[in-house]
Amino acid sequence: MPTSSPAPRVLGVAIPSPLRRLFDYRPAGTPPPGGWAPGVRVRVPFGRREVVGVIAECRATSELPPERLKPISACLDDAPLPADWLWLCRFTARYYQHPLGDTLHQALPVLLRQGRPLAARTRERWGATAAGRAPEPAALGRAPRQAALLAMLCQHPHGLATQAILAQSFGRDQLRALADKGLVERHEEPLTAPPLPDADHLLAEPALPLNREQASALAALHERLDAYHPCLLEGVTGSGKTEVYLQLIEAVVGRGRQALVLVPEIGLTPQTLARFRRRFRVPVVALHSGLTDHERLDAWEAAASGRASIVIGTRSAIFTPLARPGAIIVDEEHDTSYKQQDGLRYHARDLAVARAHRHAIPVLLGSATPSLESLAKADGGEWRHLPLTRRATRHAPARLELLDLRGRPRRGGLAPPALEAIREALSAGHQVLVFINRRGFAPTLACHACGWLAECEACDARLTLHRQPPLLACHHCDRRRALPDACPECSSIDLRPLGSGTERTEETLAEQFPDTPVHRIDRDSTRRRDAFEEVLAEVRRGAPCLLVGTQMLAKGHHLPHVTLVVVINADAGLYASDFRALEQGAQLLVQVAGRAGRASHPGRVLVQTLHPDDPHLRLLAERGYPALAARLLEERRAAALPPFRFLALLRLESPREESAVELGRRAAAALRDWLADRAPDVDCLGPVPAPMERRQGRYHLQLMLGAERRSRLHEACAWLTAWLEATPEARRVRWSLDIDPQTLS
Ligand code: ADP
Ligand code: ZN
Ligand code: ZN
Repeated sequence: MPTSSPAPRVLGVAIPSPLRRLFDYRPAGTPPPGGWAPGVRVRVPFGRREVVGVIAECRATSELPPERLKPISACLDDAPLPADWLWLCRFTARYYQHPLGDTLHQALPVLLRQGRPLAARTRERWGATAAGRAPEPAALGRAPRQAALLAMLCQHPHGLATQAILAQSFGRDQLRALADKGLVERHEEPLTAPPLPDADHLLAEPALPLNREQASALAALHERLDAYHPCLLEGVTGSGKTEVYLQLIEAVVGRGRQALVLVPEIGLTPQTLARFRRRFRVPVVALHSGLTDHERLDAWEAAASGRASIVIGTRSAIFTPLARPGAIIVDEEHDTSYKQQDGLRYHARDLAVARAHRHAIPVLLGSATPSLESLAKADGGEWRHLPLTRRATRHAPARLELLDLRGRPRRGGLAPPALEAIREALSAGHQVLVFINRRGFAPTLACHACGWLAECEACDARLTLHRQPPLLACHHCDRRRALPDACPECSSIDLRPLGSGTERTEETLAEQFPDTPVHRIDRDSTRRRDAFEEVLAEVRRGAPCLLVGTQMLAKGHHLPHVTLVVVINADAGLYASDFRALEQGAQLLVQVAGRAGRASHPGRVLVQTLHPDDPHLRLLAERGYPALAARLLEERRAAALPPFRFLALLRLESPREESAVELGRRAAAALRDWLADRAPDVDCLGPVPAPMERRQGRYHLQLMLGAERRSRLHEACAWLTAWLEATPEARRVRWSLDIDPQTLS
């Protein structure tokens, strides 16, 4: 850190608080060795508490008079937190218009938020010194335990960890006595991620010889390893994208740099991780929800110090500091789990691109079904488009066959031709996947006498009927109710389930195919930690079976013995009101279809629908995702929707409808006044009720801002948040701003 500037008199500290401002303090105590600097954590008094904050500015003056500046309580770091991390947090706070203090807080591992030091946890190791290997007999004459300990250490050329020594019932005093005599010495080594082996010994298993398309994708990547180089790798499931990632990483790590790999929430399976660890001899650290706070800090530190060469993680791993960034890879870049839907509403894919730009490194986005945002960039030539059209393994991806549900009876959601196809596949000794994106037994319970429907008292939503265990549950607010014996309106006991969920389909399949095991995979059946992995392991053994599952099953998992996929109801996902529904519904269908026929048999995908003539669905079935995506892009352009326009959504919610409506109206009026003068090219829609107006007992309202130029939208949003912060009524209404919203709900 340059320390030529005079010591600052004021520290502007970012503190986890909803306010979009810094808080000023006076430096106190000994400055850190490198001087006060942005990125150093401090403990400060804040209201009646003490909190951990991060210095964001060092200044000579404050708006507060000097006597009102409180001193900091303690400085927590010898050196600033990593500069690349601090840059990314500042960028994120600015782009998503989120308070910097809260952004920094969320982007830190829990232990660092609490003020723990950022240092590798080490372990002690003891080894014999040269003197210890040939001890003077007199040195140990009257200490047989010391002699035994020394003899043991002499047998271990690399020494032994303290834990291992104590486990042999030696004591610390014996170690100390030997150390005082100069016979043994102590080393410290980091707990995780030992240092890099040399570049010649990087691979633990040889890379696969690439096919032509893979090779030209890799060659394109090799061309520009030292520059910002955004690439979209569009390849059907099984086309060998992961192999391209692995070989890009090989090049990056071979040059002494680090690779950051982002995967969707449900994509970081033990298999995925094992594949990376099998290939490389270098340390691979994984960041996922199963880590303890200590493990998370260790992984963060190993990445920040550069000891970890490969970092793999889900969404929040984008905030991992890297000492020597070399490339960022985003697998399944279209996946909605990359967008955080509350608090700091960031998109990890978009931040990955911004970060790669900052570091001047390649960023590789991979998907079988790219987002329209990414396709538009690739089509426009802004990003490089690298297609993989063929499967690396034998079979072409399965086609979607539409199955007309109109006028057909259904059992557990399945029409007779679907049941017939399942019977055929099972008798050929294959496995079948039935996809239904609704958990529970049935979407609701209805009274056949009066038409009453079970509804949530806190949300504008029906209650889902569950049988295992029996209850009614709201999937929006988690309220639960016992099953009624009779209709609460007319007392009739003719209450019937309406529609099908995973439990009902499971029940039907078990009845229809009594000799075949049925495995249900949804959030309810996999609550126990390992339950999901156990079923997958069973399925991979290959005996004929039926799988019923939600999107947990649709993505990422290799199910080599599945040759038939049945989609119970394509319409539910495709025709929702959201403008992204078609895009996301189609991506999900293609991902589900990608499960079929990966190994030795071609696959078949039956898609049940009430709208077999719908032009979008037909386009998808007949010409595939790229054709549908091209059509959707045209429609988005015509409708002036993203990616051809930038949106921001202000959400307002309150237990009192009037409060939310009143604030929404005032905010919209104030904003429109400002826009008329300052930014007539930004438009403001609403306030309008959210698609689900009442949720968890609160009213939800929204205001939408749109602009053709991103900078204009940001100016308007900055003004709006400032207005809201300065308006007393806004304190009684919960509000949040969502830049680039992925859903309008
Ligand atoms: P994707 O990530 O696109 O779904 P994968 O990289 O997982 O595809 O590849 C699918 C399968 O094909 C894997 O079993 C992988 O080992 C194999 N594979 C990939 N590339 C090759 C190749 N060049 N030669 C032989 N097999 C390959
Ligand atoms: Zn009734
Ligand atoms: Zn509810």
